[in-house]
Order: sequence, then structure tokens, then C-alpha cells
Amino acid sequence: MSRTAIISDIHSNYHALYAVMTDAFDQENCTEVACLGDIVGYNAFPGTCLDYIRQLNCPVVKGNHDAEVVNPVYEKMNDLAREAMEWTVRQLTDEQLQWLARLQYQRMVRPHGTRAASFTIVHSTLDQPKAWNYIINSNDAAGNFNKQFSQLCFHGHTHVPKIYAWDGRHAEEDYDFKHRLVMNGYAELCPAEGHKYFVNVGSVGQPRDNDPRACYAIFDSDTNVVIMKRVPYDIAGAQNAIIEAGLPAYLAERLAVGC
Ligand code: ZN
Repeated sequence: MSRTAIISDIHSNYHALYAVMTDAFDQENCTEVACLGDIVGYNAFPGTCLDYIRQLNCPVVKGNHDAEVVNPVYEKMNDLAREAMEWTVRQLTDEQLQWLARLQYQRMVRPHGTRAASFTIVHSTLDQPKAWNYIINSNDAAGNFNKQFSQLCFHGHTHVPKIYAWDGRHAEEDYDFKHRLVMNGYAELCPAEGHKYFVNVGSVGQPRDNDPRACYAIFDSDTNVVIMKRVPYDIAGAQNAIIEAGLPAYLAERLAVGC
């Protein structure tokens, strides 16, 4: 049996990462992890989150914040982003930055013990992984499928969990899945043969879909089922750490409302 926890956009929120990994290992019996990038940025524990991900020794792809912290272009950031980025850069060692710099933009992942089932991971899109485009609707998603050579591709970047399905001609968002996730904090996808799926796993450390709970996905390679779930975590603890670090208060406030 192989269940892989698929996590994205941790953004230095160790309180959320700890809650998600505890859920994945203790409740969901995950034995593997794949990380879709944006480990750092915004919140108060960039080094701790980075070290935690590294000791998992799991597949990781590069996010735009992981790229920016190595090579910051401050002129392109708003004041809040710049302030948080400058603080983050100061927290990381040269060795940690070099590790982030070496990350690939996309990877194929084959869970242990499986022969057929493998999936693709990318932070933004497969058609232009270095452009950091945001996939907001099914039109945006359509371009990705030409470059998707596995039935499942997992991505992040928008911090909003959703699934796009491709029937060979059209991309369509799975609104039923989204509804079930909103209503129950949990939803399952059974991929249909002949279809491809571009799955946004949401964000561990800074959800932006008005649900402040952490979000992550699980891929069960025995049943070929994708699960997405929300996990409560110590938001007040994460907020206090942001304030104590001297980071912008807005970064703490947004965690409470998930925006
Ligand atoms: Zn992000």
C-alpha cells in the first residue's frame, strides 16, 4: 500500500505544516510525501520548514518564492511582499539557499511499490513552469494538458484547491468536487479512464479560499484515488510568531480568514 501526501505552498508556516504531516502520517497512513514548492515566504519559520522538508528526502519542485528568495527582484514586489522577502532572506543560510536554487521545476513521481501509477508535480503549469502563470479557470488550464503525460498532475501556486478534468478536447473544472470539499472539508476523486486531471492541492500555510484550515491532498496508488482534506491547526500560534518576528501584521491577520 502506498499513500503519498502531496503538499504545497507551506510558506514558512510550521504550525500548519506540523498539523498536516501529523494528519498525513498518523491518521491517513501516508508513507511518502511530494512537495510542490513555495516552502518559504510570508510566515515566520522559513528555516524550520525547509529543514523539515529536506529531512523527508521526498520529491520537491521549485515555487516562485523559492526562486525569489535565491535571487530577489525587489522592484517587482509590493511593499508587504518585499518586507517579508527581505526578512526571509536573512533567516536562511547560504547552504539552504543553494539547496533551493537546485530544485527542478517539474518532476515525475513514482510511488514505491507501484509499476504503473506515476504522476507529475509542478508548482504552476507544465506548459510554462518558469513563467509562474496562475491557473484561475478552465481556459487557463487547457494549455497545461498538452504537456501533461500522466493521468494526474498536481500543482499549487494559487492557494485555492480545485480540480480540472480533460476529456481529450476540453478542460472543465470539477465543481462537484469543490462543493464536497467546502461542505465536508474532505473530498475524493476517482479518476475516469481516458481523462486527465490537473489537481490544485491548495495551500498548507496560507489558504486563500476563505477557509483558514490547512489544505493538502493524498494519492492512493493502490486504488488510484485522490483525496483532498482540510486540517485545523494552531492559527493563533502562527500569528503570534509572525508578530514576534516583526513581520507585517497583515500576514498574521489573513491567516485567520484564509485570504
Ligand atoms: Zn505560494
